[in-house]
Amino acid sequence: MSPAFPKKMRTIADLIRRHDSCLVLTHVSPDGDALGSLLGLALGLERAGLRTYRACADPAPLIYRFLPGADRIGSDLPAQLPALAIAVDSDGPERVGALAGGLERVRTVIDIDHHATEKAFGDVRWVDPRAAATGEMVHRLLRALEVPPTPDIATCLYTAILTDTGRFCYANTTPRALRVAAELVRAGANPPHIYREVYESKSFSASSLLGLALSRMRQAADGRVVFSLLSQEDFVRAGSTPDETEGIIDHLRAVREAQAAALFVELPDGSVRVSMRSQDATDVSEVALRFGGGGHPNASGCTVPGPSEQAQQRVLQALSEALPRE
Ligand code: AMP
Ligand code: MN
Ligand code: MN
Repeated sequence: MSPAFPKKMRTIADLIRRHDSCLVLTHVSPDGDALGSLLGLALGLERAGLRTYRACADPAPLIYRFLPGADRIGSDLPAQLPALAIAVDSDGPERVGALAGGLERVRTVIDIDHHATEKAFGDVRWVDPRAAATGEMVHRLLRALEVPPTPDIATCLYTAILTDTGRFCYANTTPRALRVAAELVRAGANPPHIYREVYESKSFSASSLLGLALSRMRQAADGRVVFSLLSQEDFVRAGSTPDETEGIIDHLRAVREAQAAALFVELPDGSVRVSMRSQDATDVSEVALRFGGGGHPNASGCTVPGPSEQAQQRVLQALSEALPRE
């Protein structure tokens, strides 16, 4: 294998070659990178001759059900656990939710991730915060395994990069991310088809939810923070569920004066899931870390105890403090 590949990645490729089956899993409330990386890697491992098991504690949101293999993701671990497991896009063992216990019974656990807030876990950890998406890292790993991307693999990995770069708009849209995306298009990923599936296939209830979130949009810190809250009542009113909130935060972030945006989502268990986004100078991952979450400098999240009014106050206070001094 070419020495151009990082040592960690060569170790992982060697480990994979020495196994004939593998469990691939990802984080709760899976997003496009989580699912694209999970499914792209699973397909790649199958081409390398391994039997694979795909697992995620939460179901794939509807907008990602078009991804090849999405219907094969289990919410539990197989009774007969393989000796090798790979967790993708999961910054910390607790991010895989109910599957964390099972992971402890797997002989070798590999962690492939791009979060700078990464918490130590697994036997082999390959963490590259310069990667725009975990999908970009999976693309490299498959090259090291000499598995060329099929159109299905390309579709999964392109979706991972498209969504984690906010449609190639966020600060992580690097030359490398664009180059990998171009290679994936050459390999058969279809940009307009994937765009339509992810961004223009919303259910009516998800769009109603967006309307409720926008109608309740407010400002803090002299307009430098824009936020909104979706209550449990809102979900009933819109006929929707908390897995349909992806993308709403982008509308809050789009306000010109907003240096930071936050969306508070009341979960059925009474806790509050917080999504945060920011412009370059504000590091929201610091805020998320303070509340036990994590993420990237300009896109982070955490889940905090309710009631939501209090959760909102605490997080907004921390967010205001994280803004650069004027
Ligand atoms: P989201 O706002 O859910 O799109 O998440 C933005 C980023 O923050 C993603 O990279 C997530 O993986 C990360 N993130 C969200 N929630 C958490 C959490 N509770 N713990 C650690 N990272 C999180
Ligand atoms: Mn993710
Ligand atoms: Mn990611």
